Amino acid sequence: MFKLLRYFTITSLIAIIVVAAFLGLFYRRSAVNDLITVGESRNVSLAQAFSNEFWTEYASFLSNIPSDFNPETLINDPTFQALTQETLLVMQNTSVVKVKIYNLDGKTIFSTETAQVGDDGSDNLGFLEAKEGGVASELTHRDTFSAFEQEIEDRDVLSSYIPIRSHPEAPIEGVFELYTDVTPLLAQINTTQRNVILGVGLMMSVLFLTLFLIIQRADSILHEQYKERQLAAENLRLAKESAEKANQAKTEFISSVSHELRNPMTAISGYLDLVISGKVGSINEKQSEFLQTSRTNLTRMNQLVSDLSDISLIETNHVRLEFIPLDPLEVVKEAVQVLQTQITNKQQYLILEAEENLPQIQADKLRLVQILTNLISNANKYTPENGLISINLTSVQNGQGPAVLFAIKDTGIGINDQEQKKVFQKFFRSANQEAINIPGTGLGLNLTRQLVNMHHGRIWFESELNKGSTFTFTIPAV
Ligand code: ADP
Repeated sequence: MFKLLRYFTITSLIAIIVVAAFLGLFYRRSAVNDLITVGESRNVSLAQAFSNEFWTEYASFLSNIPSDFNPETLINDPTFQALTQETLLVMQNTSVVKVKIYNLDGKTIFSTETAQVGDDGSDNLGFLEAKEGGVASELTHRDTFSAFEQEIEDRDVLSSYIPIRSHPEAPIEGVFELYTDVTPLLAQINTTQRNVILGVGLMMSVLFLTLFLIIQRADSILHEQYKERQLAAENLRLAKESAEKANQAKTEFISSVSHELRNPMTAISGYLDLVISGKVGSINEKQSEFLQTSRTNLTRMNQLVSDLSDISLIETNHVRLEFIPLDPLEVVKEAVQVLQTQITNKQQYLILEAEENLPQIQADKLRLVQILTNLISNANKYTPENGLISINLTSVQNGQGPAVLFAIKDTGIGINDQEQKKVFQKFFRSANQEAINIPGTGLGLNLTRQLVNMHHGRIWFESELNKGSTFTFTIPAV
């Protein structure tokens, strides 16, 4: 049984976590991007303000610093110290925590953190980009950071590299590096991100709970239905088992009864023949007539017992066919010979046609004769006097390979459409008045079909009431 509720719960919880985390991350990413963009443009404005404030005043000082300057000497230069003081003054009450100036060689010629003066930043990517006229920014988390007044700890810092020009069209004279403390902004972003995750998670949890209740109900209905179905299947299995047992018992019963009936019937038959022959005393005409009727009925009984016995043997898998290569025409001739007297007695015409060079067939001779006699006997029984019985043999190629097709056609009473579906059923006998009067057991066609199947052939028929019937079957060729 599919564990709907369990799968739903697991997948939903995973989905809630994934969606909430994804939305939270998405929000953070775009918020941080915005922060960098806004922070960068603010840094650009601040750099602009610094430029306006000091560049004109200190440009000549800064641009005249020789490339092999001594940082110690530079820091102690009074102009440098004046610049530091003014810068610190401007930085007060802003989020700027450090300012650095690089010359075009990448050397740090000014820094509010004086220890960094003289550092080489020429291979720094931000510096290189700003030197080419661009602006580059980077957001980093610093465990400690030396700001202009003291060491600050655990801060998020946005550093921007900005080209220095005396006016917008002027050539680049150096690069500013501005560090701004964005810790409060980032903390705000983190809080909002947490709220987004919680909000989305909460909304989805409410949705999940609603769906959970619906699915729990559906799941219990499904469970009930599943149990009912299982119970029904179990009942069906038990019913089938007991039907099979009953069928088996019936088949065994028929088999033993028909066996037991054979012996007394053989004895009766022998004594009847003896009495009819007159060898044990003369009998009058009336007695002879009655004895003949008894003889005919005994023959019918014999046929019934033999058919019943055959069917039960087939159904209990006790019939073993002895397949040998046979000439189909010879077998048909043999079957016709068995029935010749009956056909002649009804003055029926018999036509036997066979295609030239028919292949040999693989069959059990006795059983094939039995199939043919059953069908020809039916054609004889259910066709009035002077009727025509034609037997046609052709070779065919069907799905399983080459085969010989036997068609037994008569011009008899035919079978109506309703009854056609039932002719192969056990004990079926037509309700047609003309057929009722003809002796039969209703077992012949059922037995015939089982025997054809055992030969791996097929049997079917066409029939029209009062016009006649054609029974056709195939037997695979060698
Ligand atoms: P039986 O002939 O002993 O009654 P079958 O199983 O051979 O039993 O046939 C079943 C029934 O099918 C027959 O009783 C008869 O009504 C019908 N039937 C069989 N063959 C023909 C035929 N050639 N023409 C008309 N009806 C037939």
